[in-house]
Amino acid sequence: VLKSIIAPLKRESRVIGLILVLQDITRQFSLENMRKEFVANVSHELRTPLTTIKSYAETLLDGAMDEPSIARQFMSVVYNEAERMTRLVNDLLELSRLDNKETRWDKKPISPSGILKDVISKMLVNIKKKNLALETDILQHSPDIFADRDKIEQVFQNILSNAIKYTPEGGKIFIRLDSIEDRVRIIFGDTGIGIPKEDLPRLFERFYRVDKTRSRELGGTGLGLSIAKEIVEAHDGIITIDSELGHGTQVTILLPAVADSKVSNM
Ligand code: ADP
Repeated sequence: VLKSIIAPLKRESRVIGLILVLQDITRQFSLENMRKEFVANVSHELRTPLTTIKSYAETLLDGAMDEPSIARQFMSVVYNEAERMTRLVNDLLELSRLDNKETRWDKKPISPSGILKDVISKMLVNIKKKNLALETDILQHSPDIFADRDKIEQVFQNILSNAIKYTPEGGKIFIRLDSIEDRVRIIFGDTGIGIPKEDLPRLFERFYRVDKTRSRELGGTGLGLSIAKEIVEAHDGIITIDSELGHGTQVTILLPAVADSKVSNM
């Protein structure tokens, strides 16, 4: 994108030529567009649950309250939509803290397999509920990583919950932790719905979802992967996604191992 300014070149108040200044504003232009798109997305994402809350509350006030079973059902819709808004606002606040470098990191040498095992045991109910098979291959004596435990736990939980969300009943999830050279590698694989090739490069963008309706129905905010990427990068790590539509997805996280770290027993 070019911005042009044309000014007359004068000598003794006579125009003797024109000066053309061309400025490349591609970066400002795309940043500005991204900002506008982000604000539009936030407004839309907040308005959807608000509209539902308003209409259900209105129907309750108009008399549905007198029917206890209906009132209960309606109130649970109101509650769930309020929950969705809370999740969204929390994710937005977290992203804004990450953007403004206001996040307080509490980094120390820590065992990644310990964090991973905790996350798996927390999510086991959800895995069982969906009748998914779980295969794990976790290196017992992995090197430590220098990390903020809660933040890395949040990343693992997010990626694993996506694998669970986007894998139909009866599918399989596999989790692997190993160490290559001076890095720890964590892989979350699933045999789920997969992601079309053309969507892969945009997945880490805020609010980008392959299927908005499906993501919303499953309670997603569309911010999980962008938060995960910010956190991983704040640990000098890399996160990548590979996927094949209809076959499954694989998320790989590489984190630097603490140099000369004593191998911890987890
Ligand atoms: P959401 O809250 O929608 O899950 P995320 O940022 O976590 O948002 O993920 C962005 C999108 O990436 C999802 O909406 C979904 O389309 C796709 N996605 C993420 N993980 C998976 C997966 N394991 N399998 C299939 N699609 C996935």
